[in-house]
Amino acid sequence: MTMMVQPFLQRSTSERDSSEFYTIATLGSHSALQILKGARDEGFKTLAIAAPDTERLYKSFGFIDEVITIQKYSEFMGLVPELEKRKIIIVPHGSFVAYLSLDDHKKMSIPYFGNKAVLDWEASRELQRQWLTRAGLKVPRQFRTGAEIDRPVIVKLYGAQGGKGYMFLRHSQDFDERAGLLARQDYILQEYVIGVPFYIHYFYSPLTGKLEIMSMDRRYETNVDSLGRIPSRAQEGMDIDPSYVVVGNSPLSLRESMLAEAYRMGEDVVRVSQEICGPKGLFGAFCIETIITPDAQFYIMEVSARIVAGTNLFIDGSPYSYLNYSEPMSTGRRIAREIKNALLSNSLNTVLDDSTQVS
Ligand code: ATP
Repeated sequence: MTMMVQPFLQRSTSERDSSEFYTIATLGSHSALQILKGARDEGFKTLAIAAPDTERLYKSFGFIDEVITIQKYSEFMGLVPELEKRKIIIVPHGSFVAYLSLDDHKKMSIPYFGNKAVLDWEASRELQRQWLTRAGLKVPRQFRTGAEIDRPVIVKLYGAQGGKGYMFLRHSQDFDERAGLLARQDYILQEYVIGVPFYIHYFYSPLTGKLEIMSMDRRYETNVDSLGRIPSRAQEGMDIDPSYVVVGNSPLSLRESMLAEAYRMGEDVVRVSQEICGPKGLFGAFCIETIITPDAQFYIMEVSARIVAGTNLFIDGSPYSYLNYSEPMSTGRRIAREIKNALLSNSLNTVLDDSTQVS
């Protein structure tokens, strides 16, 4: 029997009481559509904070109850006093983090889904590396200077997003030739792991202590994903460098024999986060960005501590979320379900950052 999503009006009074009076809000970008659709499906009111060029888009969706327009996303903090007066819960996504500074994030006192303490560990590549290593996960080697390079490396600029400006260097001689391009920039030199990029999306529930694999994707990057279309012989003399700019995502499923390892990695990341970022640790949605080598080893490039854009492929659920829910369950909806379950069990504060507790 297929389980139907219960229409809002047919829900029990207690269910309506829990979510009806709260509005889930997010910034109009990244995965806002998924978050707000999920919120509506779970019975919440929904609010998108848009900019003049995105306002009409967000208004065009029936599941968004309200759109507030600000001139620039970076002006979001000016809206905070108004939002604080309402029963709003903020669900952050990647663009939220990109547009607001870490300080603003911490200052924002609107009820906030997630643990802000994780932000510091996520934002610093060094701290992230400590976190991952402590969790027993394999990370690519790092080199401090060009002279140390003894294998192909990827140069990662600090603050870059979506792989912009990354550079592939074959050896230390390559580094010497490009050093001019890197002057006055902060970057890391990381071993280039040859394998397939594989992004695994998780959800950890602080209410049940259970970890779920939600979905998986790979990024489609230009031009590194198209170089194989031109035989290497024909590329000779063409002066093509691989670049890593994300232009899309495609869905993946993992060989089932590797799934237990993927699950264990998620558990280890959560376990260590509870040691380093306060007892609440990392909860809600997160993603481990891996490269899998031919001997089926996962190397970890990064952890994203919230919903990632790759989950937008699965607004209607993924094969993995179907196994747990037998109904469409996007990561956005899973977040709203967690908030609703918290309200129903009188434990909303468990899913909110400690600085934004409600009384
Ligand atoms: P975001 O913050 O949006 O997740 P980013 O700018 O931090 O992205 P990464 O995800 O770290 O970028 O890397 C972008 C791309 O570069 C990856 O998808 C992958 O193709 C490539 N890449 C990154 N690290 C390595 C590595 N160590 N070896 C091989 N390829 C890598």
